[in-house]
Amino acid sequence: MGRPIRIFMSTGGYIIRVVSCAGCKKEIGWIYLKVQESSQLYKLGKFVLELERLEIIIPPARTGVAF
Ligand SMILES: [Zn+2]
Repeated sequence: MGRPIRIFMSTGGYIIRVVSCAGCKKEIGWIYLKVQESSQLYKLGKFVLELERLEIIIPPARTGVAF
């Protein structure tokens, strides 16, 4: 994960950390480390994933495996 970055959005100031894919290192979103506005506190510690940056991986079909 990247270093903490201070950003300002329309909802207030934040300190975030960019989150990258463990496989290809592509940036896929961020996590909120600090939240300035108390109305935004619910975001603390939450991840935001940008869906258009995620790859859809279809798992191989399980064939004849009994559990
Ligand atoms: Zn990746």
